[in-house]
Amino acid sequence: MVEEYDVIVVGGGPAGENAAWYARDNGLDVALVERELVGGECSYWACMPSKALLRPGEALASTRRVPGAAAAVTGGVDVEATLGSRDAFSSHWDDKYQVQWVESTGATLIRGHGRLTGERTVSVEAEDGSTRTLTARRGVVVATGSAAAIPPIEGLRDIRTWDSRDVTTAKEVPARLLILGGGVVGVEMAQAFRWLGAEQVTVVEMADRLLTAEEPFVDEDLRGAFAEAGIDVRVAAKAVRARRDGDDGPVTLKLADGTELEGDELLVATGRRPNTADMGLDTVGLEPGRPIQTDDQLRAVGVDGGWLYAIGDVNGRALLTHHGKYQARLVGDHLAGKDVRARADHDAVVRVVFTDPQVAAVGLTEAAAREQGLEVDALSCGIGDVAGGSLLGKGVSGTAKLVVDSARRTILGATFTGPGVGEMIHAATIAVVSQITLDDLWHAVPAFPTMSEVWLRLLEADRGIS
Ligand SMILES: Cc1cc2nc3c(=O)[nH]c(=O)nc-3n(C[C@H](O)[C@H](O)[C@H](O)COP(=O)(O)OP(=O)(O)OC[C@H]3O[C@@H](n4cnc5c(N)ncnc54)[C@H](O)[C@@H]3O)c2cc1C
Repeated sequence: MVEEYDVIVVGGGPAGENAAWYARDNGLDVALVERELVGGECSYWACMPSKALLRPGEALASTRRVPGAAAAVTGGVDVEATLGSRDAFSSHWDDKYQVQWVESTGATLIRGHGRLTGERTVSVEAEDGSTRTLTARRGVVVATGSAAAIPPIEGLRDIRTWDSRDVTTAKEVPARLLILGGGVVGVEMAQAFRWLGAEQVTVVEMADRLLTAEEPFVDEDLRGAFAEAGIDVRVAAKAVRARRDGDDGPVTLKLADGTELEGDELLVATGRRPNTADMGLDTVGLEPGRPIQTDDQLRAVGVDGGWLYAIGDVNGRALLTHHGKYQARLVGDHLAGKDVRARADHDAVVRVVFTDPQVAAVGLTEAAAREQGLEVDALSCGIGDVAGGSLLGKGVSGTAKLVVDSARRTILGATFTGPGVGEMIHAATIAVVSQITLDDLWHAVPAFPTMSEVWLRLLEADRGIS
């Protein structure tokens, strides 16, 4: 028997469940297909557990900077309590509350592995091997997310390593943690496990800096802080071979210059691959294993009829939960006939890295803007230069930078490093999206003494006042 819905969403991560909800909110009849846990990678193996692992260390670090409070910090992070809190924030890997929520929206949840079998048709294979066939009157939304990619390094696939799922669900803190990859996952987990008491944490990055997509000062600020925290960072370091002695013995990573690094665990954090290898993309003329390229209405490029959508990590536009959910909201509306288009995921991608210092950025870096042929000015100042920053504690430092369109005097991008800057980035996002000019910003008065006075320093830099 073929079951018919207005919309079929394959993948119940943050993108998929929000698409189902918004489509339901528009009165559409929706089936949501999920093969594992409703809530996806973000809820159980990514955003939530990783931030729960970082939060206690961040709280201690910020208290240690405050005269009058620092002396009350007499120990380090309580590992058992942190792992327990991580388990709770990951709902103990039980999706019953998310299932209740999906059901409360009126969407039909179907457990199983979904595969496209042709135009508007999805076959769902349940765990017991039985299959159901679904057809969609309006559209199919692929929201199958991504998984850790393993680079082609000799020996790496033959040994036991950690990927993002293993590190976020770790039951113990290894004494020596090697991390391959200085991107977001690599640096956040370096910070978390050092705070959790790992004696030796080493980050190996092939490029010449950490977080390569960000402004160069981000690498400088982070590497300086990591050096003080005792985290060893090797940049311009190419790993060429990995081996482990037995299953539980030490793991060794050999670098191109002959250096051998030894650890108890090796976290491979070198990027993501889209979950498209086994979902029938070939039946609709797309290449399995590749991201599904989309237009700004999130419809798959190369599929006639405009019935196939792809949102979240699987389309490769911006691999972040909040951007997947943004795309989901647009798709929920587009399926209902509204003329909406994504723009934030090219003009205003928001990134926050929860290290100490935090890194928060939106929109274009100066280099990216210049690559696009834009004429820009750059404004910067120190975060510790404002009263609100200095009140956060001794030695609080960081950097703020705006990238400004020279002719229009609008903000194209902003980057901040410093404690808590993740909470400051939304003001910059509003400025970028609304294309407000620097001259109008003079009338947006930041409160004294908050860190937001950085905005005033940046406007003063624009006037040449320092
Ligand atoms: C360690 C780590 C930390 C992160 N921290 C953050 C953060 O702090 N903030 C942030 O914004 N982003 C963060 N991210 C990124 C974030 O996790 C992803 O961008 C987000 O999960 C993508 O959501 P999604 O819905 O596209 O995919 P996913 O969350 O991957 O969900 C996809 C779902 O589809 C299901 N599925 C796959 N194939 C099929 C199929 N064929 N049939 C049925 N179901 C299927 C999967 O089981 C899964 O539930 C982090 C990532 C990692 C690895």
